[in-house]
Amino acid sequence: MPADSRCTNFALLKVSSVRIPKVGARYIVPFLNEARLKIGILAVQGDFEAHATRLRELGAETLEVRTIADLEQCDGLILPGGESTTQLQFLQEEGLYDAIRNFANSGRAIFGTCAGAILLATEVKNPPQSSLRLMDMTVLRNAYGRQVASDVFFGPCKLKSGPMEMVFIRGPIIERAGNSLEVLAEYAGKPVLVQNKNLLAATFHPELTSDATVHEHFLQMASAHSAKPATA
Ligand code: GLN
Repeated sequence: MPADSRCTNFALLKVSSVRIPKVGARYIVPFLNEARLKIGILAVQGDFEAHATRLRELGAETLEVRTIADLEQCDGLILPGGESTTQLQFLQEEGLYDAIRNFANSGRAIFGTCAGAILLATEVKNPPQSSLRLMDMTVLRNAYGRQVASDVFFGPCKLKSGPMEMVFIRGPIIERAGNSLEVLAEYAGKPVLVQNKNLLAATFHPELTSDATVHEHFLQMASAHSAKPATA
């Protein structure tokens, strides 16, 4: 698909107010103004650049998120891979922990990959740690792949007809996925891509392959951000 047509797929209709000069009054009327989706990527550490590149190829605008003010400008958010303990500490120190929970509860889309998936889970093991507790699942840290060399597997995915390439780098296993989660992809009998309404989590790294399927799906979720929010 050419980049241009992808761009229009993810255009977002925004409603704003206009002032009519001759009358001088402010009329709050729906003013349809096509704007690109703006997707924030938590940029503490980890592979946030690869997500930004993929999203821009698909026609979205991207913003590195380090503060609550950054987050407030976004239509969707990616929590990238990295080290979930470090990321969690940063979220707590910067007040982003509560801000991201509010962002999710407002119906805006969040996609967590690997460490990001750990942050979204309700329960984290190996070792146990706190998390945002937004998706009803139990994850076991450091289960797939080595830290420096990645392991690549192929597994079925509901978002496409053929098998999906999955890069695992010390990713978590989703040991339990609650009934509120839809399993979109599996590897070795375990869920590796799960969704609950506006929330998406992958234990692998789709940003490190040439397959844009998962990011396209996330942008569709983000463009429907007025959807009813998920509850864990
Ligand atoms: N092992 C990391 C953690 O448990 C996640 C690794 C990754 O994001 N690739 O936080």
